[in-house]
Formats: sequence, structure tokens, C-alpha cells
Amino acid sequence: MSSKPQRPCPICKKPRSEEHAPFCSIRCKDRDLAQWFGDGYAVPSRPASPEEIATADWDTQE
Ligand SMILES: [Zn+2]
Repeated sequence: MSSKPQRPCPICKKPRSEEHAPFCSIRCKDRDLAQWFGDGYAVPSRPASPEEIATADWDTQE
């Protein structure tokens, strides 16, 4: 019982990174934080790739 199963990134379901656990990257971490602000940022029901998040201007819709 020495190894626990690694949960994937809760945002995009990719394998998590040790550095940014429990997320896979700083982008997913930021994204999770953005959700906590709760200012109407809609979460898509499908997993988003880091590339997609990187190119999405989700700050411009006001
Ligand atoms: Zn992720």
C-alpha cells in the first residue's frame, strides 16, 4: 500500500505535474483559480487542451 493512484488534472484530465499538482500545468491552475472568482466564466463540458487555453482570450469577453 505504498503507492497511491495519481489522479489526473481536474481541469483537463491530463497527467498531473509534480510542480503544479494537482494540476498538469500552471495554466490549469490559473484556470481553476479563475473559476473560483466565479465571474461567469463558463467551463466547457469537454476537456480543453493547454494549447486551446493558451489561445483562448477568455479575458476579453466583458
Ligand atoms: Zn490540466
